[in-house]
Amino acid sequence: MAIENTHHESVKLLPWFDALGKAFNLESPPQAILFHGQPGIGKFDFARWLSKALLCEADLLSTGQKPCNSCEACRWFDTGNHPDFIALLPQSLKGRLVQAELEGSPKIDPVASESQEDGDGGKKESTFIKIDEMRGAIGGINIGSHRGGKRIILIYPLESLREDASNTLLKSLEEPNPDTIFILVSDRLDRVLPTIRSRCQLIALPKPSRDLALEWLQSELKLLLTDKVRTEELEATIDEHAGAPLSARDQILARHLGDDKDGIGLAITATRVLLEALSKGPQISYLECAEKVQKAPYSALLMCMQRWLFDLQLSRQLGEVRYYRRHAQLIGQLASQLQLAKAQRLWSALTLARRHENHPLSTRVQMESMLLQYQQLFAD
Ligand SMILES: [Zn+2]
Repeated sequence: MAIENTHHESVKLLPWFDALGKAFNLESPPQAILFHGQPGIGKFDFARWLSKALLCEADLLSTGQKPCNSCEACRWFDTGNHPDFIALLPQSLKGRLVQAELEGSPKIDPVASESQEDGDGGKKESTFIKIDEMRGAIGGINIGSHRGGKRIILIYPLESLREDASNTLLKSLEEPNPDTIFILVSDRLDRVLPTIRSRCQLIALPKPSRDLALEWLQSELKLLLTDKVRTEELEATIDEHAGAPLSARDQILARHLGDDKDGIGLAITATRVLLEALSKGPQISYLECAEKVQKAPYSALLMCMQRWLFDLQLSRQLGEVRYYRRHAQLIGQLASQLQLAKAQRLWSALTLARRHENHPLSTRVQMESMLLQYQQLFAD
């Protein structure tokens, strides 16, 4: 079965950045870009998308788009393993890189360790990017990149650099290396040093129209929540966050899933990883998938699997899907091979597991078992 590459979902271009993303000249990018705009509109996601597009090694003329999602560079990026992509985030935001964290890659998360080394900050320290991390990131600049292309250093939020780290960054910007691109992202442009600003190409990222924000929020939440969120709640939350869709999403998720921020971040990413794996049908690498999603809340994983299975069965019987409409075509293809009796048994197993979802013995072991059953649903 042919699996479309569009199902790699780890780095997506948010619809309101579509025009900007497509118009971006990937062939001759500026040495340093500073994205700014309202918090919660997805600037970091856009910066990651752009990083992936810049590192993509496909031939633009033959693929028609970057990132192509299928070259080696894209695959490495998606698993958090691209050697020429360095993301600097404060400890408090490292959940934004859960994709990489799920992979257990130490390289991409240079912030996670040694938080006690600084004597002066205590817990507050975690919202800053420290000088050591900055030095570590730019240390290799003058040695070529691993892949012979560009090296990208993404810093978010820029205002979380401490003064000494800012100065180190400034020095690198003053003596640019043609192979290194800095992608800087700021929620508060007024807090960025003017000397840094003046060396970057400033790009203001827009927020979506209210209608687009609502539409996006609705489809996003459909993937992540079982309970239907009422339109009034969506509207109220969007307005409360001044039209910032990602902030609104996080708040609604917190309201419906409990206040565990790490859990929410993990649930979002793990759901995507899981969907991508499920979309491979009989070719699913179930051990790998179970390993990647094991830190996410078990309940979110079970729910996602249940909905996918529901769609498969519905598609088989009525040619329709209810939850994952974006994947309707692929679900249809998989459904044609579905063995209904086995699907019923897996459905029962998932239902039973959901009764004990808050006390799984080991999410990884349980997921391995569920996904192995899933793999065997399809007739040859
Ligand atoms: Zn690519």
